Amino acid sequence: MVEIRDLEKYYSSFKVLDGISGSVKKGEVIVICGPSGSGKSTMIRTINRLEEIDGGQIVVDGRDIHDRNYDINQLRSKIGFVFQQFNLFPHLSARDNVTLSPLKVAGMPAREASELAEHLLQKVGLSDKLDAMPASLSGGQQQRVAIARALAQNAPLMLFDEPTSALDPEMVGEVLTVIQQLAEEGQTMMIVTHEMGFAGKVADRIWFMDRGRILTQSPPGEFFNNPEHPRVQKFLSDML
Ligand code: ATP
Ligand code: MG
Repeated sequence: MVEIRDLEKYYSSFKVLDGISGSVKKGEVIVICGPSGSGKSTMIRTINRLEEIDGGQIVVDGRDIHDRNYDINQLRSKIGFVFQQFNLFPHLSARDNVTLSPLKVAGMPAREASELAEHLLQKVGLSDKLDAMPASLSGGQQQRVAIARALAQNAPLMLFDEPTSALDPEMVGEVLTVIQQLAEEGQTMMIVTHEMGFAGKVADRIWFMDRGRILTQSPPGEFFNNPEHPRVQKFLSDML
């Protein structure tokens, strides 16, 4: 579904992505971890073209998405994105945050969009908050609305960049549970997270990044129990 080939990116003379290659198959969950500043956010943002690239290719469903002729709206229909900061529209209710894209981008009839929003908000455990405004919701609830909003695009691939790191600790679990449920349903996802327990549960493979490179791509059992790379060993021991 996604094929990343020798990706390079600079911030002026600083090489932030230094030859990233990897692929994601339909139904796979890839967790991306690594030290702060290693390029995880930059990398995941290039996959949704929120960042431009300076070399290499990202091929989604057979097409180079950084090609000048590739339609950005088509890309947005293929890839949903959940940010660390939920970025809900503050003047819209939970329901209206979720219906916005189906109404405006997909041209869905209002009634159908509203039913879809109800279904998705129920799925993330918020059926009692349909008409709540973002400011009246907790951080965990807002993030679950943001997940419902991303799901409303019906995109085959979902990207998450540290979806729980802006949350109070007691709200982390409810958001991770929703993402884990998506994983069990077979949703293809790439997730940047520091939540290692969660990573062990949902990941098919863990990509470990350091200084703009992917050092290892391994199944969670190997990553946690038998990491070969000394940098991974150090990262894991620093987390304890
Ligand atoms: P964290 O775990 O802290 O979120 P990260 O792995 O997501 O880190 P990035 O945010 O991708 O790291 O940043 C990678 C490097 O690029 C860092 O050194 C950062 O300071 C630098 N960087 C990020 N964004 C910019 C920018 N817009 N301009 C210049 N440098 C940047
Ligand atoms: Mg980051």
